Amino acid sequence: MDTEKSKYCGRFAPSPSGPLHFGSLVAAMGSYLDARHNRGEWLVRIEDLDPPREKPGSADGILTTLEAFGFEWDREILYQNCRHRTKAYREALDTLSTHAMAFHCACTRREINATGLLGIDGPIYPGTCRNDLPEGREARTIRVRTDDLGISFLDLVCGEQQQKIFSQIGDFVIRRADGLAAYQLAVVVDDAFQGVNRVVRGADLLYSTPRQIFLQQLLKLPTPEYAHLPLVRDGSGRKLSKQSRSLPVDNQNPLPALVTAWQFLGQIKPDPELQQIENFWQWAIVNWDLSNVPCEPSLQPTHHETDHLVPGIGIEPI
Ligand code: GLU
Repeated sequence: MDTEKSKYCGRFAPSPSGPLHFGSLVAAMGSYLDARHNRGEWLVRIEDLDPPREKPGSADGILTTLEAFGFEWDREILYQNCRHRTKAYREALDTLSTHAMAFHCACTRREINATGLLGIDGPIYPGTCRNDLPEGREARTIRVRTDDLGISFLDLVCGEQQQKIFSQIGDFVIRRADGLAAYQLAVVVDDAFQGVNRVVRGADLLYSTPRQIFLQQLLKLPTPEYAHLPLVRDGSGRKLSKQSRSLPVDNQNPLPALVTAWQFLGQIKPDPELQQIENFWQWAIVNWDLSNVPCEPSLQPTHHETDHLVPGIGIEPI
């Protein structure tokens, strides 16, 4: 990152769907250390745009845990579910609609599933409402009109990535049926609003990144750099998630979890003298090395000719 031109600005953007577990601690640590090592800012944004999946009190719980673990964020916390952000998402939707880059769609999830077109991240939209709403149908969602020009980017952990959005994902939802901005739109609008220029987050979002870059291009917003961290899995290989009730980290005893997260991220052996979280962070900020972070194993390119898509992740390694 060219620190002369633009100061590094990173962020951690948890959804308040449960307490902070070890998987989110790894994402928080990776984004924090990368920002601080590069003398950058680090912001926290609460992505509370999905009321059905939210658990009351979990935003506060996550912030309390971050504090207990010694994370120090810059600026005020941004909550997505507030009036000025809702207005910003609406303006972005208007821009896309005015320029015919988005369209109203009447299709239900069941109708789309029934077409049987399976893409790399679920069913591909069959294009039913692309030109007009069918007779007698009402708009439910707004979708963006995608193309197949191909979106490429260099992930700082996983290397070159490429995706063809129209044929691999399809026209995707940017305003949900409940009227809220969809994650893909809100994240793009907010990263730009906050001046985030390097996104460090879990590899479960690697497949979403081309959609976000596509929206940035349509909205004429800058594209940050991206680094996707390996995912923490449970004993049966599933990604830890707040919804799957993964065990929260222990606010009373942060150091062991910090050291384990540090090692999970492929960093050098920790100094055994580190007994306090303050010392841990001072030492970790100096010794952080993004190039040591391993790429998520399920994203490693395979050598079989037929395996050109990585199952479940939806990125074509190039
Ligand atoms: N809110 C998302 C989550 O909790 C992360 C979004 C992002 O980092 O872009 O998984």
